[in-house]
Amino acid sequence: MTTLFPPRWLPITAFLMAAALFTAGCAGDAADDATTAASSADAPATIEPQYIDEVDALAEVPIVQQAFDEIVALEPRTQEELIMLTEIPAPPFMEDERAATYREMLQAAGADSTWTDAEGNVLALRRGQSGGRTVALGAHLDTVFPEGTDVTVEARGDTLYAPGIGDDARGLMVILTVLRALEATDLQTEGDLLFIGTVGEEGLGDLRGVKHLFREGGPPIDSWIAVDGGGMGRIIHRALGSHRYRVTMKGPGGHSWGAFGAGNPHHALGRAITHFTDAADPFTQEGARTSYNVGRIGGGTSVNSIPFESWMEVDMRSISPERLDAIDALFQDAMQRGLEEQNELTREGAPLTMDVEMIGDRPSGAIDPATPLVQRAMATTAYFDTEPSLGISSTDSNTPIAKGIPAVTIGRGGDGGGAHSLDEWWLNKDGHLAIQRALLLAVSEAGWAGS
Ligand SMILES: [Zn+2]
Repeated sequence: MTTLFPPRWLPITAFLMAAALFTAGCAGDAADDATTAASSADAPATIEPQYIDEVDALAEVPIVQQAFDEIVALEPRTQEELIMLTEIPAPPFMEDERAATYREMLQAAGADSTWTDAEGNVLALRRGQSGGRTVALGAHLDTVFPEGTDVTVEARGDTLYAPGIGDDARGLMVILTVLRALEATDLQTEGDLLFIGTVGEEGLGDLRGVKHLFREGGPPIDSWIAVDGGGMGRIIHRALGSHRYRVTMKGPGGHSWGAFGAGNPHHALGRAITHFTDAADPFTQEGARTSYNVGRIGGGTSVNSIPFESWMEVDMRSISPERLDAIDALFQDAMQRGLEEQNELTREGAPLTMDVEMIGDRPSGAIDPATPLVQRAMATTAYFDTEPSLGISSTDSNTPIAKGIPAVTIGRGGDGGGAHSLDEWWLNKDGHLAIQRALLLAVSEAGWAGS
């Protein structure tokens, strides 16, 4: 409660939302910092007085204040274990070791039961008094950093440097500390709480952890609160969807002089990219914000060889599911055209072939700001004298949001930067406030059993 912001009754306008979107930190993979402003289609969001009243009343209950105090008392331990968790490597698809340790920590914190599901997610259940509803708090176990990356934490002054420390080892510590504070004070909720460390949030992990959680027949989750990236004010209630492809053109290859006239995969790929960008550029000039990017290109053996193959990786994003499908269709057409045109130019040998493999599929969507979970997320943020702002990103919340399940991603608190870089850093500047806010949100959403 250090900063003074506009009074809590002030409507959070679309303008504020747009401004805040630029500050959205890393939540999800590298380019997810890039969000949208002017194209936001949201109506102004207001915190309804009933939620401000509800949250303020809950926060003043003595046992909740005790839980807040406990979070402060736990700070040295929270900091120490943040370093310990960060130093357990968790490269994409190799989260097992960090997952096993995290599960032990959740069990020791007092969860009623813990388990690891078939995808590798770690879950800890804290039963509520009446059950019936389940509120999940999630943070992701994986990092973007490949095996062998030095993840030793280095302190320079109070600032901690290490790959993955903020994204999302800090998120894991936030939700674990919420559980510890609830246990230490015996603060009971009505609904059940699930604390979850997810796998595969980043990059080619493609949200495999949450996709498994929210599968048909998965654990019943009525509300989802992810802690990932950012400071106190940012609340993600919209999902930035993306489609990603790896395109591979193949041919017989050969000597650039001796086999001249054989199909050339690079030439085909070049044509395909030209057709795609020619179509995608006007498409993305108007309407709901949509982006496209050819991110990687490879293939070929030498300057005087016709390549055997040519490949590229492409990323397309949109805040609108319909427009994501539409730009995807433009992409598919362009690839086909590039291939066919180049095959018409092939003078001898087998025609070129093409493989278009989908390597990423993240759904888009939005949760209405009037939804109680979003209202409570804003009201609990305002309680800590921080101005809440609604935004869009690609996080674990994409999956529940696309299914219409109330979901938000809230910030890990403190100061941080350099996500997805080797210079990633995090500074515990009033970091306890973000943990207190996460606890207040979880208890208000699950219901306090003592009222
Ligand atoms: Zn993250």
